Amino acid sequence: MNQRNNRRLVLFPVPFQGHINPMLQLAQILHNRGFSITILHTDLNLSIHPRTPTSPFAPSAMASANRRCAAPFEERLREEVSSPDGRDAPVTCLIADALFRFTWDVAERAGVRRMVLRTGESRLEDPVPEFPPLQVKDLPGINTAEPELLDQLLHDMTEGIKDSSGVILNTFEDLEEISSRNFPIGPFHKCGPSSSGSLLAEDRSCISWLDEQAPNSVVYVSFGSIATVGESEFSEIALGLADSQQPFLWVVRPGSVGGSELLEKLPSCFLEALEERGKIVKWAPQQEVLAHRAVGAFWTHNGWNSTLESISEGVPMICMPCFSDQKVNARFVSDVWGVGVHLNNGLERRKIAEAIRKLLVEKEGEEVRERAAQFKEKANSCLRQGGSSFRSLDGLANHILSSESFVFGSNKSSA
Ligand code: UDP
Repeated sequence: MNQRNNRRLVLFPVPFQGHINPMLQLAQILHNRGFSITILHTDLNLSIHPRTPTSPFAPSAMASANRRCAAPFEERLREEVSSPDGRDAPVTCLIADALFRFTWDVAERAGVRRMVLRTGESRLEDPVPEFPPLQVKDLPGINTAEPELLDQLLHDMTEGIKDSSGVILNTFEDLEEISSRNFPIGPFHKCGPSSSGSLLAEDRSCISWLDEQAPNSVVYVSFGSIATVGESEFSEIALGLADSQQPFLWVVRPGSVGGSELLEKLPSCFLEALEERGKIVKWAPQQEVLAHRAVGAFWTHNGWNSTLESISEGVPMICMPCFSDQKVNARFVSDVWGVGVHLNNGLERRKIAEAIRKLLVEKEGEEVRERAAQFKEKANSCLRQGGSSFRSLDGLANHILSSESFVFGSNKSSA
């Protein structure tokens, strides 16, 4: 661990599981670099906001969080900044989730420099050459009953990022081209252990179950903390898993459209197969699962954390993106990095079984498996001394420490 540097950072995550995890990991990374850390958090949990397969993301919940959090956040930030008894290290910088747009005005009023953490794919602002002036984020992708609110949210996020003093990304240079004001210091979770930010209890019985399985034989199935599946999709997934003849570990989260209750409705052939070679849990210690020698494929919704966690462990993916940046992530996984296959044109048990067998056992999947192993090596080497993320973290620490000369408002031109 580096020496303490008598500087404090205030971190502020959005209360979605996929946003809390990387923020806590970032906290650990920066603490290891000598910074003192204060994490402010809301008492909301947006991951449990009601949603359906046709409207999985509720922009109104995020918009309401932006409205409701502004005043209490300002109050807390001012308290942190004033630290009247001088016991704490002075606040040098606020690092806020990119979705919390209001933090810009609040930071300005409190006289604190603000950086943002982007927890998702960073290509959303890339142009689509065939359809100028469209950007990737404009392509149809997010099913929502509130399209205008969603547009506003994405617009605010983009503006908030432009206004920040720098952007921290959970990615690494071998994966994507990164513009100069960004700090790609990922994969965060490989930088060392951090405290668990799980909003659900992890069922660790799956690790002892994995210990009993053959190397690279298990398909791990999880669609993250928000995505939901309908009743017919749910049965098709179950039947595809049964048909694959491979062991599987399946996360069926409470609330994923009555998931747990649906288990009882599954055909008896599936439940028989399950007894022999399947394990279902409500929430898994995912990073540990993906790092387990028994896991040979990951059937995922391609949330950015899941995608990066899989790449970092060299686990090839079966991509089933649902909304938001997941579609872009999945396209990169299959077509650019070549570390996974897409489940195209809907869910069908035969195709599911084929995809699983391809990645786990068939010769056809060999190239994908090899490329996945190569990316694992890249993900690890970028963190070693001299690697791209290692250097970027140095740059980030220097950037934060340079805040002594920072005059509020001047960051737009200097960024
Ligand atoms: N996760 C977990 N256990 C599970 C399922 C997911 O710990 O059973 C974690 C996973 O490791 C990842 C996060 O939850 O860090 C999900 O984030 P992601 O960006 O993949 O998807 P989201 O939930 O935001 O759609």
